[in-house]
This record gives sequence, structure tokens and C-alpha cells, in this order.
Amino acid sequence: MKKQKNEKNKLKKLKAKRIIYNVVISLVIIVFSILLKIVPDGLMVYTGRYGTGNEEENAFINKVMGPNAEDNYKLYFYWYNVVHESGHGLMMFNGNKKQTYAENEMLVNKFAVAYWRRFGEEEKIIKLEQIVDYALSQLNNPAKNGQSIVEWFNENYENQMKNQSFNDYGYFQFASVKEALESDKSLEDIVYEMTDKRVTITDKLLTYNSIDEESSTQVIMDASDNYREWGLNYPEHDMIVHNYINQPNNHYSTTLKNVYDAIMPKVIVILIIQMAIVNFIYYKKIKKLSQGV
Ligand SMILES: [Zn+2]
Repeated sequence: MKKQKNEKNKLKKLKAKRIIYNVVISLVIIVFSILLKIVPDGLMVYTGRYGTGNEEENAFINKVMGPNAEDNYKLYFYWYNVVHESGHGLMMFNGNKKQTYAENEMLVNKFAVAYWRRFGEEEKIIKLEQIVDYALSQLNNPAKNGQSIVEWFNENYENQMKNQSFNDYGYFQFASVKEALESDKSLEDIVYEMTDKRVTITDKLLTYNSIDEESSTQVIMDASDNYREWGLNYPEHDMIVHNYINQPNNHYSTTLKNVYDAIMPKVIVILIIQMAIVNFIYYKKIKKLSQGV
């Protein structure tokens, strides 16, 4: 009799536990889904660290960046390219028009060059031109028969995304910056091309004592202050994350929402599978106990 009462209690507890478990996991899924809809979006910028690639990657970078490879790399990626990446953000947060990957890169390079011509120190811009010229002299142009580099990339997009060749992608990106350096479009016109918005820009000089990981993050934050000052949509400092990665060939940006959208469905599927397994175990245990009672 006592044993039966005990088992009845156990059964009650088990059933209660199952309900609590299901409610908690369901709540986690619901709260996460709601939070993702209401939290403000942010920007993630990834910058590859100099000298942290494998042998082949480091050798490629040293060849392309020439003598003083480390300083040149830092000027190009920690100073110039972070504005290029923030420019992608500007398009993402202000209605990105449908353009091809190569056209987007061209536009963002024109933007970053015009930005630094307006706000940067002259000697850094001259150095940037030298770096780009040297890099192009070390690479082979993959485009043939008078094709422009953007036309070439448009035609070879799939292949480039699948098996990116250091030479071909490097040539494409540096040739795009070279074309941007030769363009005399104003910063206002390029911003209009990127966002469909007419902005008023005040001149200022942004100087940085050194070019390092800290200052490159500052470059992004200062740029974000400028964009908001021009009246454009852009995340506040606390919603901008600048990550350094040990992949010197990898430099890109994305929105926080894109990251969530990529991760969340997987997390939800895992939670649902886990729920199914746990419920099955409960079912078995409860059935066994019920038979005993
Ligand atoms: Zn880009």
C-alpha cells in the first residue's frame, strides 16, 4: 500500500516536471523569437589580423603588400578598408539597392576613397595609392579582351564565390580601389548613389596617431558618428561590433540580424529535437510507473 502511494507520488512529480520542462523550453523559444524582432539591429565588422594566416596566406600578403608589408597592410586594412566595410553598413541600413556583388564593391570603394579624401590626411591617401599600384603590379589581370574588372567579376561570380583565387579576387579588389582613386565624384554624389538620400557633409580632418587595432575601431565609430550627423540611419556605438580574426585574407561586414537569422533556425531546430527526445523519455518513464501503480 505504502509502495503504491510512493509510486503515485513519483508519477505526479514526473508529470509536473514534464509540464515545467515543456513550458520553460517553449518560453525560451518564444522570448528569443520576440526579442529578435524588437532589438535594434547592429553592425558586425570583421578585420583580418596581419601575419596570422597559414604559410601560403602570409606569403601572398607579403608579396602583394611589398616592402614594409606590415605597415602597408595596416594602412590598407586597418585604416582604409574599415571605412569600406562601414560603407557596406551604410547601404544595408539605408535601403540597399539591388546591384551585383562587384558593383557594390566598386561603389563602396568609391565611397571609402571619397571619404578619406574629405576627412583623411593627405600623406595616408598618397601612401594608399602607392600600395594599390604596387599590389596590382604583383598580380595578373584575370579579365581578358578589354573586359572591365566589374564585367569580369559579374561573369565569374559563382566560380569566385566557390573557389576564390587569391590572385583573381585580389586583382579585382585592388583594381576596383584603383578605379575609385581615379574617380572625381563627390562624397555627396556617391552617398546619393548608395542610399538615394541627399546629405549635407561638413568638412573635418580625422587624424589618428597610430594605425593599430584600437584606432581602426575608432575609425569605424567616428565614421558612424558622421553618418548619423548626415541624417542617415546607422547603429549607435554599442550596436557596432568590430572583431579581429586570425584570417588576414578575410575582411567583411554583416548585420546582427543576418547573424541571428543564420543561427536562430538552427537553435530552434536543436531545441525542438531535444524537446522531442526528453518528452519521449518522460513518456516511457510515466508509462512504466503507471503500469506499476
Ligand atoms: Zn566589400
